[in-house]
Amino acid sequence: MPGGGPPTRPPGHPAAGYVSAEVTRRGPAGPPVRVAGVSYSGPHSDPFDPFDPFGPSDPRRPSDSSDAWGSDRPRRSRLRRPLTVALAALVPGALLGWLAYEALGGTGSGGNGGAGGARAGAGVSASAPGTAPAGGDDRPGTLSAPPSGAVAPLTGKVVVIDPGHNPANVRHTAEIGRQVDIGTNRKECDTTGTSTNSGYSEAEFTLDVAHRLRTLLEGQGATVKLTQDGDRPFGPCVDERARIGNAAHADAVVSIHADGSAEGDRGFHVILPAAVHAGAADTRAVVGPSKELGKLIANDFARSTGTSPSNYVGDGTGLVTRRDLGGLNLSTVPKVFIECGNMRDSNDAALLTSGAWRQKAAQGMSEGIVSFLHGS
Ligand SMILES: [Zn+2]
Repeated sequence: MPGGGPPTRPPGHPAAGYVSAEVTRRGPAGPPVRVAGVSYSGPHSDPFDPFDPFGPSDPRRPSDSSDAWGSDRPRRSRLRRPLTVALAALVPGALLGWLAYEALGGTGSGGNGGAGGARAGAGVSASAPGTAPAGGDDRPGTLSAPPSGAVAPLTGKVVVIDPGHNPANVRHTAEIGRQVDIGTNRKECDTTGTSTNSGYSEAEFTLDVAHRLRTLLEGQGATVKLTQDGDRPFGPCVDERARIGNAAHADAVVSIHADGSAEGDRGFHVILPAAVHAGAADTRAVVGPSKELGKLIANDFARSTGTSPSNYVGDGTGLVTRRDLGGLNLSTVPKVFIECGNMRDSNDAALLTSGAWRQKAAQGMSEGIVSFLHGS
């Protein structure tokens, strides 16, 4: 959760209930994108697919349900079409990639969710298009690197990832409690963040997702910088977090969080900067691009993880605009926060503690960022 806590649900406003994944996929509109020849527009939606033996609505079209690559990987059914010489040359490479993936799979969970968490993640993704091969993978996405010889799509782009809380903040409460100027107000330097009821901290979660996201983005050729890597005694303060993105002239910044709301409050939301012009804060130039970045991330996060937008803020859109966060107010580059789920809800916690789910979360963020940077 960001400093100051999330907006609270108005008194008497009932929880909307957990919305289905089908509702999720209808979420904020974002254009279909193509990255390194991989379609992210979802199954059966690309009428221009040159490898597709069937039209978009042809009843003979095979289902993707048996496709272990998931909906955003090239469908194996495409290979039923007589191969061109050029395509045939690509097949050995694809097989090698698959074998490499299989070799990396099943290497265990990196989180305290372990196998139980992975099962929970699989349960959610079963009703939505998955992005990882069956069984999930706890390793950063080795399949996301562009094919050798291809130009990495994010070459020259700078992305700053802000793991929302330093795991060591809990031992420096006095230091992080000092007030800093956020333009509209003064606010505490940083906060410890929340945790699941079983003690898995938001700080640990955000750092893990940040590492996964960094690997994915670097695989696309981006230059990636983290605001902290668990490598300093506390902080940075929220004003410094913003300045790091500004100084890097980042093309996009994402601050990763998980929320600490009530049991029953579920789902993710992306926090967008409000138009603020006060003191050192002037977001007016980045409100538009930040909103676009946020919508793309929300769209791809929902699809990749199979989870729904928040049922307690954002009116089901998964988007919330705030003017009380220093990390957003002081940013002069496109920036959003994402609250990946509610650590205090037992169902969301089962996802957040799963390494396989965190990989899907990072994948969704990566795809949203890639979409944004392609359009910028
Ligand atoms: Zn947080």
